[in-house]
Amino acid sequence: GDINGNVEPETAENGGSRKSWNQADLAEQSLLNKLIRRSLVRNRNQVEVLQRDPASPLYSVKTFEELRLKPELLNGVYDMGFNRPSRIQENALPMMLAQPPQNLIAQSQSGTGKTAAFSLAMLSHVNLENKWTQCLCISPTYELALQIGQVIEQMGKFCPDVKLAYAIRGNRMERGTKLQEQIVVGTPGTILDWCTKHKLIDPKKITMFVLDEADVMIATQGHRDQSIRIHRLLTEKCQMLLFSATFEDSVWKFAERVVPDPNIIRLKREEETLDTIKQFYVICREKEDKFTSLCNLYGSLTIAQAMIFCRTRKMAAWLSVNLRLEGHQVALLSGEMTVEQRAAVIERFRNGKEKVLVTTNVCSRGIDVEQVSLVVNFDLPVGLDGKADNETYLHRIGRTGRFGRRGFAVNMVDGEKSMDIIHEIEMHFNRTITELDTSNLEEME
Ligand code: ADP
Repeated sequence: GDINGNVEPETAENGGSRKSWNQADLAEQSLLNKLIRRSLVRNRNQVEVLQRDPASPLYSVKTFEELRLKPELLNGVYDMGFNRPSRIQENALPMMLAQPPQNLIAQSQSGTGKTAAFSLAMLSHVNLENKWTQCLCISPTYELALQIGQVIEQMGKFCPDVKLAYAIRGNRMERGTKLQEQIVVGTPGTILDWCTKHKLIDPKKITMFVLDEADVMIATQGHRDQSIRIHRLLTEKCQMLLFSATFEDSVWKFAERVVPDPNIIRLKREEETLDTIKQFYVICREKEDKFTSLCNLYGSLTIAQAMIFCRTRKMAAWLSVNLRLEGHQVALLSGEMTVEQRAAVIERFRNGKEKVLVTTNVCSRGIDVEQVSLVVNFDLPVGLDGKADNETYLHRIGRTGRFGRRGFAVNMVDGEKSMDIIHEIEMHFNRTITELDTSNLEEME
């Protein structure tokens, strides 16, 4: 069948679950999320809090005032447009600011306010009397470290005396003189150099240590080891804070090693559902036939915006060229683009500049575009084992229900093998996928 026959491994985009992704993919995905996100992800799940000392009262705040921040810092928070703490911030902030200091492990999906939370904690923690580095924050990549730094700079913009340094490659410092910046954010390798080889930072004087994106961090053995080496340089008095978007066993083991006696905060990701999606399949022969069906669909429906998934870059490129020839305004997203380029494409699509987004698998996760009413699987999601990739299917077309909008998903079926995939998906989710005759589209209205 075409599904397998058409795959060119060197051009096939990363499909499948996050678990099989390597660190570069994970870090890119995370950066992409940050670049395109302008507000909090809504999540109606309950926050789970596990206190180190269950007998101590559980503080949670509904306002930033309750935190008794320095007025300049509070101004910075409001200036960013934050009105009230996010769900995890309600619990995390009082713990991070508590005296005596408490250690924290916090897990929640990207976009729930973790970075803002620890940036605030570091800015609040700094003692201006002390002209040395007090807060150390490590992040898996150069770009992610820069993103964190930007948040700190923005939030701290009314605190001119709080200084920040970036411990990232290319940032050369004079050896041997101690840094005066109270906050240092960077990647593990450079931070380690600055603490040991270059002696720019005295790790014994660090009183707050933040490890962000622990799941991405430990996906690279080198980063994992460097993080542990940095951690070993710190004193027992240092407050340890660790954040992660996911929480597999490996992350958990690592976290327990780095964060003794922790408080734990978890916010489960809101489950995606197929309940509000009508699912169809269309029988096609080869890609030209799929293309005709797609055009028929478009001709007879009023579609706000559509996302079309292809298995390979080559297919995505072919499809976008042909859709353009048909007069559609098409955005194309694929793996060879830089993260910044991808973010820009998504931004344009979000703003409605293009109505169709053709994409390979790389970005199915990061984007939720409210206006998307149609998702087309031009190629069905298939794992390396040739079986249906149910997880990817759900991410592509599932909704968290938060928009409450109905949507359509159309699957292009090009042979027996892909029909089998459709049946597998039906069985897995226990939802019928209905055959659609694109020359007779009444069923969809
Ligand atoms: P995470 O680190 O969990 O991915 P971020 O801290 O980057 O989350 O926050 C996600 C988005 O929400 C960012 O655009 C951030 O500016 C915004 N944000 C964070 N906290 C708040 C808040 N309390 N109120 C409004 N927006 C917030």
